[in-house]
Parts: sequence; C-alpha cells; structure tokens
Amino acid sequence: MQGHTPRRRFGQNFLADPHYVRRIVDAVNPQPGEALVEIGPGLGALTAELIARAGHLYAIEIDRDLAARLRERFSETRLTLFEDDALRFDFTRLSAELSTPLRIIGNLPYNISSPLLFHLAHNIASLRDLHVMLQKEVVARMAAKPSTPDYGRLSVMLQAKFAITRLFIVPPGAFSPAPKVDSAVARLTPLGERAPQLADESLFARLVAAAFAQRRKILRNALAAHCAPDDLRAAGIDPQARGENLAVDDFVRLANRLARDG
Ligand code: SAM
Repeated sequence: MQGHTPRRRFGQNFLADPHYVRRIVDAVNPQPGEALVEIGPGLGALTAELIARAGHLYAIEIDRDLAARLRERFSETRLTLFEDDALRFDFTRLSAELSTPLRIIGNLPYNISSPLLFHLAHNIASLRDLHVMLQKEVVARMAAKPSTPDYGRLSVMLQAKFAITRLFIVPPGAFSPAPKVDSAVARLTPLGERAPQLADESLFARLVAAAFAQRRKILRNALAAHCAPDDLRAAGIDPQARGENLAVDDFVRLANRLARDG
C-alpha cells in the first residue's frame, strides 16, 4: 500500500492485480487525443496504464494525500488532476472547454455509486461513454430487465439514458484491502438519438421514485399522489400492475402524458 492508510469514508479499495488493470483498460481501449477522465485515481493503478496507452489523462480525486502523491508521480503534461468531489464536478463544463465528449473511467467509491451515476446521467450530453467498476449487485440492478428482482429505480433511470453492458466480474482478491463482495465492470453508452424524449425529466424521476418506493404496492396506490387510475389506463398501463412490471417505455409514456395534461 506504499504507506497510505486506506480511508473507508472514501471507499478506498485499491486495485492491486495487474491482470484486472489490463482487462479494464483493454475494455476502455483508450486512444491518444481522447478526453479521458478517471474518477478516483487513488494510488494510480488504472491511471498509470491509461496514461501509458493514451499519453494524457484527466482525473478527479477527493483525498488530498492521494492527490499529492499522484502529482509527485505523474507530470502535469501527463495528468491533469482536479482535487475535487466528483459528485459536484462540472463534467459539462470540462467537455465544453475541451470541445469534445468525455470518456469516464472509474473504480468507483461504492458508498456514493448511485448518486454519482445520477450526477453523470445529468451531464449525459457531455459524455461519450463510461466504464465503471461497482459492487456486482449494483451492476445487476443497473442492467436488470422488468419483472426481475433486481429491476428498480436505478435500472429505469439509467436505462432511459444509457445502453448498459455488464463486462466481467472482479473478485475481492484483486483489491487491497479486499472488499467483502464481488465487483463488476460495466460499460454505459449514451443512447443519443435513440433515447426516449422526456417532456419533463423531473416528473419522470418523481414517478419512477414513487413507483418503487414500496415495491409491493400496486401502481394505483403507489402513484395515487401523481395520477388517477384512469390516467394509467389511458397510458396503456394496468393500475393493478407494480412498478417492477413496467418497461422503461411505459414510464416514459405515462410521464409524457401527465406532463402534456398538466
Ligand atoms: N482507482 C483506484 C484503483 O482502482 O485502485 C482507486 C479506487 S477506490 C475504490 C476509490 C477512489 O475514489 C479513492 O481514491 C477515493 O479517495 C476516491 N474518491 C472517493 N470519493 C470520491 C469523490 N466524491 N470524488 C472523487 N474521488 C473520490
């Protein structure tokens, strides 16, 4: 660990197995000239390999001690380091400054994985793709299909914006310190023109949250504060169904109908 005591509050489990470092960077396939942004470079396992292949990297690290070590190890011409909180980082601004969409890479701190994915989804117009490593269960939820146990708010909110591919599992032994759970690497690619058009994004988000707030509730009850059973029927949705039974397109249709009807 080269003298660094891992900080649990920053979700620090460092990748220590070169085999998985290579597999992740192979999956990214970074090229010189691309705007590559690593979230949480930590001790630099992925950072070094990304720089070796692409020549230059942007990175966002919240831990001051690690940021200082990274500055010592990598020159400014190779690594542009933002000592910042990725949850508040303005990805849209960086992309605008560089006049190119960003490629995001990260062995993400597991304690903030969902809010970070939502923050990235909010900046989607500035992203080319994401390669992220997360707890295996979180990746299963991201990629889950309707009427399966893993399908929920995270699945709908992300699948409305991204095509999501599970790439491979990374076992606890690949990290130091080893986490208690398996991890998985996922690729998220913005749907672009294939993305469903949302008349009111925040209404869509509120409906999805309400539909899954209590999984076992049928929709006529779960969405009672938002719409009547007739609104559900008019959108082609059975009021007796549960949120977990609706496809992403069903949520989109309902939200757009309610937005249209005011
Ligand atoms: N990328 C390194 C690796 O693969 O070994 C470290 C991964 S470790 C799971 C997560 C990293 O994200 C740590 O370096 C941690 O300090 C950093 N981090 C945690 N919260 C962060 C935040 N809000 N913004 C930026 N970096 C953060």
